[in-house]
Amino acid sequence: MLVVILVETQLPENLGAVARVMANFGLTELRLVRPQVDPFDPKALATAVGAAKLLRQARVISCLEEAITDLHYIFGTSACQRDMIKIYETPRSFAAFATHALKSQSLTGVVFGPERTGLTNDDLARCERIIQVPVDPNFSSLNLAQAVGMISYEFYQAKTSPFGCTFKVGQTKKADQKQIGQFLHFLEKNLDDVNFWRVASKKPVMWRNLQSLWTRTNLTEQEIQTLYGMITSLRGWVPIKESNKQ
Ligand code: SAH
Repeated sequence: MLVVILVETQLPENLGAVARVMANFGLTELRLVRPQVDPFDPKALATAVGAAKLLRQARVISCLEEAITDLHYIFGTSACQRDMIKIYETPRSFAAFATHALKSQSLTGVVFGPERTGLTNDDLARCERIIQVPVDPNFSSLNLAQAVGMISYEFYQAKTSPFGCTFKVGQTKKADQKQIGQFLHFLEKNLDDVNFWRVASKKPVMWRNLQSLWTRTNLTEQEIQTLYGMITSLRGWVPIKESNKQ
């Protein structure tokens, strides 16, 4: 299943148009992170036309981490390349990948940002890859619902003629976002514990880069277990703070 996640959407017309275009391409699961407008707003429902059901059923969630917890693959979207090392997909290359994920029963989510600012760098760092619709670099920002439409369109086309890459995981399987989120939390706490950051003000950027590194790697469940073991044994000589014990 492909899940559409909208973060802090501001305009009711966009909410409605997103629901409508999702339904055009057979998508049903919409999640709203801190929407700035009521999904039941008459303008939103009117713009959705026959797809108002998607708005009525949409889950409203207070943070991105919670919205992605059950998903296996998580893609962000951005109108422009950020100062972050990430794999960028076009809607078409994303769709080829996502249809394979679909076959293995994996859940894939695509996250869209607020109209004015787009996703924060922190939100994008948490995503595994980024989809950027190739557009004129001098005018790269699409309307939110049109961006959802282009990605949904490609996904729908690829479902009927799949091609492209597979992620082979052997005996194990791709970790879901809950497992990845818990591992990142464990890593951050352990780095706090050993004062890895040295200068506190540098932590936000360093941590964003580190998160980005781990979310780039398509971690499997087995690899996450190995990393837990690795970190625990590496810091064997440092007493673990009470607050970080599980
Ligand atoms: N200035 C913002 C644009 C916000 S548009 C930015 O730099 O991202 C609102 C949302 O529409 C974006 O967060 C993204 O989810 C989507 N979007 C707009 N243009 C896009 C593009 N060219 N490729 C992919 N997503 C796009």
